[in-house]
Amino acid sequence: MSSSATRILLLGAPGAGKGTQAAFVIERLGVAHISTGDMLRQAVADQTEVGKKAKAVMDSGKLVSDDIVIAIAEERLSQPDAKKGFVLDGFPRTLAQAESLDAMLTNIGTPLERCVAITVDTDAVVQRLLKRAELEGRADDNEETIRERMQVYDNQTSPLLEYYGNGGILATVDGMGGVEEISERVKTALSGS
Ligand code: AMP
Repeated sequence: MSSSATRILLLGAPGAGKGTQAAFVIERLGVAHISTGDMLRQAVADQTEVGKKAKAVMDSGKLVSDDIVIAIAEERLSQPDAKKGFVLDGFPRTLAQAESLDAMLTNIGTPLERCVAITVDTDAVVQRLLKRAELEGRADDNEETIRERMQVYDNQTSPLLEYYGNGGILATVDGMGGVEEISERVKTALSGS
């Protein structure tokens, strides 16, 4: 019988399909979905202090400060439903965030088990994001912001591939193809731990 990792990070450029694949994994494993992007959008909608600080940064495609995002993620990870496992989607995005996450999870004795990196072709991703902009009307999905977000991913988030590679928990999955097909690849990448 094959077991699956339950403390999981999905890593990938904006539009790589992290959210879609996260939904499959949480459905299959019954673990918590932790998306800092969703939490920040909720804070903006609720006009909280965090939301007020984050809005302009998010609209520009840049990253919200590590302090804010780390606090949000830690608070969410400490909730009871995260005890049975979680899928992190969009956090961490910087080395400082990754180090904080590691420190926190190691402290409570539940380290991350697997980082699944979903790789995609950049042109295809831009097309996906433009389509999502039409469907969802997200303020950060115009072309200029999409390019900025890609740049931010390359500069600040892609170093995490090496970080988790060095940590021995990285699995890379080809994110091009049908969602079902990709979900099978993710499932395989999570099995056996
Ligand atoms: P997402 O839905 O994950 O693409 O996130 C949307 C936006 O929220 C990003 O472009 C950032 O401005 C902000 N955001 C989400 N997660 C993080 C994070 N881990 N660190 C910094 N900013 C974040």
